[in-house]
Amino acid sequence: MILTTSQTQAIEDQYTSGLYTKRPLVIVRGQGAHLWDADGNEYIDCVGGQGAANLGHANPLVAEAIAQQAATLISCPEMFYNDRRALLEQKLCSLSGFPRVFLCNSGTESVEAALKFARLVTGRTGIIATMRGFHGRTMGALSATWEKKYREPFEPLVPGFSHVPYNNLEALANAVNETTAAVILEVVQGEGGVTPGQAEYLRGAETICHERGALLIIDEVQTGFARTGRLFAFQHHNLHPDFVCLAKSIAGGLPMGAVLIGERAGKLAPQTHGSTFGGNPLACAASLAAIAYIETNQLAQRSAELGAWFLGQLKTIQSPLIREVRGLGLMCGIELRQKVTPYLQALMAKGVLALPAGLTVLRFLPPLVIEQSDLAKVVQAVNEVLNQPIND
Ligand code: PMP
Repeated sequence: MILTTSQTQAIEDQYTSGLYTKRPLVIVRGQGAHLWDADGNEYIDCVGGQGAANLGHANPLVAEAIAQQAATLISCPEMFYNDRRALLEQKLCSLSGFPRVFLCNSGTESVEAALKFARLVTGRTGIIATMRGFHGRTMGALSATWEKKYREPFEPLVPGFSHVPYNNLEALANAVNETTAAVILEVVQGEGGVTPGQAEYLRGAETICHERGALLIIDEVQTGFARTGRLFAFQHHNLHPDFVCLAKSIAGGLPMGAVLIGERAGKLAPQTHGSTFGGNPLACAASLAAIAYIETNQLAQRSAELGAWFLGQLKTIQSPLIREVRGLGLMCGIELRQKVTPYLQALMAKGVLALPAGLTVLRFLPPLVIEQSDLAKVVQAVNEVLNQPIND
């Protein structure tokens, strides 16, 4: 049954949970960095599945792997061994240099797991997170998330969490003590405004954790899988975290998450955590294909080069609305002096889909396969909308 645009919208509006603020677009197809709506309009996609579409839409290698594995075996809980899972665990560990990995199904689950592992391993309860940090929406991950509007309706949250200013080593040093199980950080804060962490801050955080017996959790849910110009963003700074949270593009867009587990955490005690879907062969096969595609097509290098070019171009835009342009690889943001919503709408009218990060930052997370010519069109569109009158 083919639905018209208005039929789809009417049905979703009637039956949706109501949790999401929707844009009036019915997206029905994607290819690379392009999306099409039900009326056949084409868009350049700088939403990139909110970071899940690093490999581009309808990636042929991932699609083929999913189809093959779906016809072979989809479910296989971790009480059994599985060939796809074995190969993926080995691949993730060899790529990252970590000895072990836990497989789950989303970003928030990977954070939830890392927080539990940190408490389990240290026997301590304290978790230090950062202001403007975002780590997910389940109760533990939400407790590490900063934004009040996500947290307040659900209080009381998990005890033991506190937040310190990001990129402020002194504040972190004052907060970490003998009750701290872990410090959780993003290498570039994504939802909080596309704010890169400074090298001395991130390395200093690692030292403080090591000196005080706390573990370091790096949340790479958004920065992972070549987004920032390295396979993992922690590699920019030669960090050695104890846990690394992964999700979004790990399986080419299929739901999956993972926690890389470092030497200091060791092998975790049996039955202390688990997941029915975690490590399912379908997601593992998709992830193996996704990683092979990233490697073969050197997407990390592509992200570094295109990202540097794109950021440079965005910085040339002259507009009184711009406060700052910042980013790393193809994770780019423009902080405005005003709320971004009308500018996102104006970009959409010009065929460019982008994201907000907080209230005032325009965020671009294009698939890493995007062509430079498309990025040039994005720059042109951004230049136009930031220099035209907008009706708020
Ligand atoms: N951590 C970070 C850094 C994220 O950006 C996100 C999602 N935006 C999450 C965790 C939560 O991931 P998910 O939506 O898959 O639960």
